[in-house]
Amino acid sequence: MYSLLNENIQYIKGVGPKKAEKMNKLNIYTIRDAIYYFPRQFEDRSKEKKIFQLVDTEKITVRVKIDRITGNKFKKINMTILYVSDDTGSAKLVFFNRNYIKNTFRVGDIVKVFGTVKIMDNSAIEMHNCEIEYDRVDKNTGIILPVYNLSKGISNKDIMGVIRNIFDSSDIKIPEYLPSKIITQYNLTDIEFAIRNMHFPTSKENLKIAMYRMIFEEFLFMQLGLFVIKGGIKIVEGISFKKSEELSLIEQSIPFKLTRAQKKAYNEILEDMSSKKSMNRLVQGDVGSGKTVVAQLALANCALNGYQGAYMAPTEILAKQHYESFIEFFKDTKIKVKIITGSTTKKQADRILEELESGNIDIIIGTHALIQERVVFKNLGLVITDEQHRFGVKQRGKLSVKSSNPDVLVMSATPIPRTLALILYGDLDISIIDELPPGRKPIETIAIEKRKREDFYNKKVKEELSKGHQVYVVCPLVEESEVLDVLSVEEVYEQLKHEFFKDYRVGLLHGKMKASEKDEVMELFKQKEIDILVSTTVIEVGVNVPNATYMIVENAERFGLAQLHQLRGRVGRGSDKSYCTLIYDSKTEVTKQRMGIMEETNDGFKISEKDLEIRGPGDFFGTRQHGLPELRVANLFKHIKILRVAQKVAREIYADDPALMKKENHQMKLNVSRMFESIGENMSL
Ligand code: ADP
Ligand code: MG
Repeated sequence: MYSLLNENIQYIKGVGPKKAEKMNKLNIYTIRDAIYYFPRQFEDRSKEKKIFQLVDTEKITVRVKIDRITGNKFKKINMTILYVSDDTGSAKLVFFNRNYIKNTFRVGDIVKVFGTVKIMDNSAIEMHNCEIEYDRVDKNTGIILPVYNLSKGISNKDIMGVIRNIFDSSDIKIPEYLPSKIITQYNLTDIEFAIRNMHFPTSKENLKIAMYRMIFEEFLFMQLGLFVIKGGIKIVEGISFKKSEELSLIEQSIPFKLTRAQKKAYNEILEDMSSKKSMNRLVQGDVGSGKTVVAQLALANCALNGYQGAYMAPTEILAKQHYESFIEFFKDTKIKVKIITGSTTKKQADRILEELESGNIDIIIGTHALIQERVVFKNLGLVITDEQHRFGVKQRGKLSVKSSNPDVLVMSATPIPRTLALILYGDLDISIIDELPPGRKPIETIAIEKRKREDFYNKKVKEELSKGHQVYVVCPLVEESEVLDVLSVEEVYEQLKHEFFKDYRVGLLHGKMKASEKDEVMELFKQKEIDILVSTTVIEVGVNVPNATYMIVENAERFGLAQLHQLRGRVGRGSDKSYCTLIYDSKTEVTKQRMGIMEETNDGFKISEKDLEIRGPGDFFGTRQHGLPELRVANLFKHIKILRVAQKVAREIYADDPALMKKENHQMKLNVSRMFESIGENMSL
């Protein structure tokens, strides 16, 4: 259906090509984008007082008459003073360098002003550089004012103006898209009311009503989209694996004793595998908690039952590292393990694929290469994905359809809050490995300001290197367009190599290098041929070099805390004490708090919860990382109750109309696919 909402934002009065371009920077391209560009917060300017009621430092709106206007010039500052009054008293409005005030307002005018009250020593009442406007227009004073995220060249007033012009334009309608049945049953307000009040709430009550509706629909669309992509929640018959004698032998050959938590997770997996129901389980364990051995045991059980297993890793480096550890693990068994990645030659790959199809290979390890069309299994029985949040929801699905119904195990070090897990996986079972193998020393973490950087490298880091230990230095990805004062990985590499550490071997690793180059650098680091490895976050997950004892993160303020925790998990993997230093370049309170959390705790779950607490709503962390579309208003922690209702509704709708083909669901379907398009999921609805 054609809708004006799809029109370019330039259609709106007052938006020319230049302004449009600037709005594009905020991801506002169409009229629809604009009306869904919700404010970050609101400032309540609706409260009005009389002059005699004013209290020092309060922010308030007053309605006054202008009695006298004067202008003065001190040095380079133009000062305009309006003497104003109402029927209860008088006050002084002082403006600095705002010449237009004198030309805009006249003695005798009635105006509304909003600003911070200053009560002077002589009890005179003043407001400095306040908002001032004619009473009749009522634009920036006397209302609950929306406060938007801005970009260069676009002011809050610009956005307010654009939205107002959209709302005032009589030919733009916002058609309802939720089925009327749902609106009635769940007592939701209509979309027109909701959108208008999301920008210009006529009262706090109405803002709440509008928010509820928008949060509800966001959760509903997200859940429906996931159902459509993944085919809903299915309980299907699976393979019933039997535990064999040989598996016990493999268990006994492990060179260490499993922790209590590992044993528990392993037993839960064995139970799932032996049941007729197919397994759908998430194993969540902090970095270094020993998830790999649990995966290896599960795959051993699968292979010993005559089925094939697949293990999918998010990066090539990781796949190779796992491959080596699997070869070692299965060296005294008949279980045959192979690897296939993007850099496997065609000839090798052809051969591996042939062997997979004939059933000659028991366990295949790989990256995305595993989900190619041409990979065919003889009898795939178990699929394990490692650090799954790096795969899109759909990619993950692809591997499990390579056989009728293999068991599925997902390993993750990112603490996924229960609610998020519920959204992502529906009825997924979760095993938690909440214990580290014995003898691990906690990683000592300190955060330092950038100005202490040079000193830190010269003293502390050199001291650690002198013990024969190795060091990681991780830098954020910097886009070339960014003019911020952030060092790129190349710059840091050059500086460390040629200035700070002339006598040491410094290596460089980043995502743009060829896979073979990355391997080479990683191999050199493992062989202790490199002392300091400067890299981007390509080393984030799973890399295991026990002799590396120092993790340094440059511009740490630019990372998510969960990510910093992952990075920190690269050290502390051997018996030596390990350190992590976060170098930050920001004086904001939020940065200090976040760095403080990293210093205080080594518990990944606590860290991600705290991180969420500090970052406000709207800036919801991690949904993208989990392959979910961005949420504009809904917050998985704050709005759990609404989430539950929306999930229930999604389930009902999906059960009744899985392809959303019914007429009443048509408009909703468009919205669901629009939401998922933004993360590149084509729902082929
Ligand atoms: P992650 O959970 O981060 O994937 P890994 O499986 O890579 O952790 O394990 C980290 C290290 O701990 C490996 O070197 C592994 O051999 C070792 N490890 C695992 N479990 C135990 C255990 N129960 N006792 C001692 N060391 C263990
Ligand atoms: Mg791992």
